[in-house]
Amino acid sequence: MLPLETEGLVTESSKAGFKLMPVILDDMRSDEVLVEMKYSGICHTDIVGASGGYDYILDFPAALGHEGAGFIRAVGADVQNPALKVGSAVILSFTHCGNCGNCSAGHPACCDNFEILNCGAKRLDGSVTGRLADGRRLVGQFFGQSSFLKHSIVSQHSVVPCPYPEDLALYSALGCGFQTGAGTVLNSLRPSAGNSVVVFGVGTVGMSAIMGAKYLGVRQIIAVDVAESKLELARELGATHVLNSRKVADMVKEIRDICPGGVRFAIECAGIDVLMEQMLDCVCCGGIAAVVGVPKPDFVLKVDPMRLLHENKTLKGICQGDSVADKFIPEMMEMHRSGSFPLEKLCKFYDVEDYEQVLRDISEGKVLKAILKW
Ligand SMILES: [Zn+2]
Ligand SMILES: [Zn+2]
Repeated sequence: MLPLETEGLVTESSKAGFKLMPVILDDMRSDEVLVEMKYSGICHTDIVGASGGYDYILDFPAALGHEGAGFIRAVGADVQNPALKVGSAVILSFTHCGNCGNCSAGHPACCDNFEILNCGAKRLDGSVTGRLADGRRLVGQFFGQSSFLKHSIVSQHSVVPCPYPEDLALYSALGCGFQTGAGTVLNSLRPSAGNSVVVFGVGTVGMSAIMGAKYLGVRQIIAVDVAESKLELARELGATHVLNSRKVADMVKEIRDICPGGVRFAIECAGIDVLMEQMLDCVCCGGIAAVVGVPKPDFVLKVDPMRLLHENKTLKGICQGDSVADKFIPEMMEMHRSGSFPLEKLCKFYDVEDYEQVLRDISEGKVLKAILKW
């Protein structure tokens, strides 16, 4: 089957954006899976990667994309999961090494090799899976999958079977943004019904955090954003209070008015400097402030350790919702089927040829979860 001529949205150099071009795959290992992509969600992290945000670890030319879904076309002899068969419908998520202490302890999202494998987009030995037509080597395992390729050689750890192929389109983007937001609430923070949660930034990740909090029956769910349309949808999905940060003079006071003493959990999903700075002041004594959104590369968050100590607060980074993808993605599918995770209210589909229009729609805030169709 290899070498295989296919195509993909390639980022040729740092800050070069995306371009649809021919790609050749020619190196599949025995622990990898060849997937023909049918859908690929676009996540903020792809835009960050194409804008130079991962230059410290990511080489170019590279194919990004990390919310793929499609069908298996070949399975390596050493792939461990027997459910991965040629023809199976699959959803792709982040990868992990499978060998480090955190992977062994059941926390693949805390894998010691997370950054190099996912953001670096190469195997641990530095090798890549393919090249461009002119021979340049192509970095093509972003988050183990590079789903901006029509066909991709994928890490076995990225592949999750989808038992509902008829709904593959809708479930195609479960591998990152939805998982990150819902997992932050359901896997990591686990608020009780009596708690309060504020979510800063209600894109896909923030909306999923809100749906997760509603699912747990959390009493006070505050959504913060600058876009009224998103705040309206956040209310529909479960927010009990909404705040437009452009219209609020003192965000900390506003949140403390709603939750006297402060909110139990603050979740920053937008990667905005000022919100990250305010988060710890919004949470109550003993509360947790979670960094979930990707910050600007050079931003350094300053924290007063004395207040952290005396107020017993936790500042916590939560990557990929601390999810085990092949357990949590099926859970989200079942939540959707029971009506608790209305993905269709967030997703919009585009033909891959229209990728420039998609990027414009994303930057203008016209779409929450854009999904490319191959
Ligand atoms: Zn690991
Ligand atoms: Zn993502």
